[in-house]
Amino acid sequence: MADEREYNSIVTEARNKNLPELINNAFTKIGEEYVKAIDEELPEDLSNTPAVVAAFKRAFKRFAQQGERRIREATINALKRRMSTHEQALKQVKGSDNIFDESLSKVATDAIDDMYKRRSLDVVDSFKTVENWGGSGAMVEEELSAMVRNGSSPEKATNRIMASLASGDAEMQEAVSRFGRRGGLRAATEEPNERLQQLARRIGSDARMIARTEMSQSFLEADRRAGMRSDVVEGLKWTLSTNHTHEDICDTLATQDKYGLGSGVYPAEEFPSLPHPSCTCSSRYKFVD
Ligand SMILES: [Zn+2]
Repeated sequence: MADEREYNSIVTEARNKNLPELINNAFTKIGEEYVKAIDEELPEDLSNTPAVVAAFKRAFKRFAQQGERRIREATINALKRRMSTHEQALKQVKGSDNIFDESLSKVATDAIDDMYKRRSLDVVDSFKTVENWGGSGAMVEEELSAMVRNGSSPEKATNRIMASLASGDAEMQEAVSRFGRRGGLRAATEEPNERLQQLARRIGSDARMIARTEMSQSFLEADRRAGMRSDVVEGLKWTLSTNHTHEDICDTLATQDKYGLGSGVYPAEEFPSLPHPSCTCSSRYKFVD
């Protein structure tokens, strides 16, 4: 099956090349939204503590919503690139573009719709931690109130929160320098707070984890859909990520032969979903002999 190997190596190479770039891109945009939301929601007068607390709360809500939207947009872009790679690879190895029933250009949005639908039916886990983002908002509120109670002025407390959020992550710091209209944000980076820095790092790694997992999952969904539309695709093979250092359920998925199609091979419609967050295992096509 030389053509199968060639096909899969073209698709895998494109995936490895595009995925990290797309994830970073999505994450940078999320970081920007985060700082922008806080900057825009904060009132001019920082001495009004309840108003500042309410502003942080609104900013986090907005941040979580924008983050979802950004990830969805970035994922659709990633999928469009992946599908055109599929089409090019097929042309290259089979010399034909009629391998799939129809053009793969619609697969990107269909796969995303499918993913959300299957999630709403509880068929697939989402591994999202938007709830954590909400929890992080509550933690910021708590810190702010505590600082005010302990004698910091509300202005100082607000600045320390902003400084810590910014210093916890290089991309957010960059965003602060671009969006921090009220100079205070930039000046504030001199006085970070250890606990808040930890919080900022957690928000950052949550956002990255969501972006990475969402994109990997959507790639599988798109491959499944495309495979279901093709007569030459016999199944999809679960391919262990090279980042996989310890044995887990992915090893079973990659080796079991549940359908007599070979180890780790499933009919497209039965192909499993990602079993854990940050899983970057992928799918490869097995063509009909
Ligand atoms: Zn995995």
